[in-house]
Amino acid sequence: MQAKTTFNDLVKKYNQPVPRYTSYPTVPVWKDGLDINRWRQLLKQQFSIHNHKDGISLYIHLPFCESLCTYCGCNKKITTNHSVEEEYLLMIEKEFSLYLELLEEKPVIREIHLGGGTPTFFSPSNLMRLINSIKEKSVIYPLHEFSIEGHPNNTTIEHLKTLYDLGFRRISYGVQDNDPEVQRVINRIQPLEKVKNATDNARVIGFESVNFDLIYGLPKQTLESIERTFQQVLELRPDRIAFYSYAHVPWTSRGQRLFDENDLPSPDQKLQLYLKGKEILTKAGYFDIGMDHFALTKDALYRAWQNNTLHRNFMGYTTQHTSILLGLGVSSISDIGIAFAQNKKALHEYYECISKNELPVFRGYFLNEEDVAFRKYILDISCQGKTKFDPAHLTILEQITFPELSKFEEDELIEWNETGLAVTTSGRHFIRNICSAFDLHLQRNKEAATKPLFSKAI
Ligand code: SF4
Repeated sequence: MQAKTTFNDLVKKYNQPVPRYTSYPTVPVWKDGLDINRWRQLLKQQFSIHNHKDGISLYIHLPFCESLCTYCGCNKKITTNHSVEEEYLLMIEKEFSLYLELLEEKPVIREIHLGGGTPTFFSPSNLMRLINSIKEKSVIYPLHEFSIEGHPNNTTIEHLKTLYDLGFRRISYGVQDNDPEVQRVINRIQPLEKVKNATDNARVIGFESVNFDLIYGLPKQTLESIERTFQQVLELRPDRIAFYSYAHVPWTSRGQRLFDENDLPSPDQKLQLYLKGKEILTKAGYFDIGMDHFALTKDALYRAWQNNTLHRNFMGYTTQHTSILLGLGVSSISDIGIAFAQNKKALHEYYECISKNELPVFRGYFLNEEDVAFRKYILDISCQGKTKFDPAHLTILEQITFPELSKFEEDELIEWNETGLAVTTSGRHFIRNICSAFDLHLQRNKEAATKPLFSKAI
């Protein structure tokens, strides 16, 4: 008799390089040398359709950090010189004005997310100036959601009070790992006391949701150390946890070259770290939303998942559903549903464009009808765990997607027929893999690809 496939077997089987689908098509498919006039024209058109009715989202990238965490893969600039804040804010304000000149009515802001870098590198008064400068030129949607990524080491009570008064109700702290030896190796010394203070202060001031980012697969992590980290941080009862896989890419993230590769967990140890974390989170009452995100059932993210109102974009899962995400700041990405555009990644190039009154976008992608349709399938599955097929796509679905779905069905990850699919409870852990069946670019290039473009799921 054949032994029953266990969850661990499935995790091993589906631990393949697949995207996180914060966009479709994914970034490796995009092209440099974006046609800026076409981008401007499409943005105008989409804005006039969606702004008034649904509002728009703003992502603002604040890239400065005081010290380098060696594992980091973000676009950041390390400096202890805070005079850089002034010039950067001027550039963001000017970039926003360039968009306002293009658009024919005031933007209705439904969502703002400040990401980085370290947004709390900026002083409370500078953050206030930034948000107020946006508010002055916009209409604020009644049920808006403003959120920020805070560093536990430098998020002060003044930051939190200022942000709260500006309408921020959600904060995410990069906790990563609480073990002193791991923290030493990744150059992120962050005593638990700091995380506790930052969390307690946010709650006392009135923040409704606190998220912690944790990472598995870091150098020196062991099963015992990650278990301790979870025990300690779960005492603070964050409302959400993002439990990310560390991607070791020293050829693009130079700080990672400082690691002794012998300190990294082996692929099997990394898998065990993931399974341990997931087991602890599940026992502690956190619901696996999918794609690395866990939430308490009282949190708005879980409620949105339950009510089928969850949305996904470059900021990850979000409870607000807008069709336009405008990215401001160096390396930021804008998404208007039928096109993506990314800002210049080097600070001096970004400044140069803005100084010449040019939109600082350098690469992106214009979606065709097929991309738009398959993007919807991927969004439906990642946000609601189900989708309905349009009969007009049957030929291509039969040719590319259905053979993949049959494999997932054998492992009881989905139930499906020619009209649609629903992800099963065990399938929820493999959402990325299931979405990849609808990624026509990935499927068509599978054979041609000589090296994986994405990190493995674990
Ligand atoms: S992990 Fe965060 S704080 Fe550390 S260097 Fe990267 S962006 Fe800066």
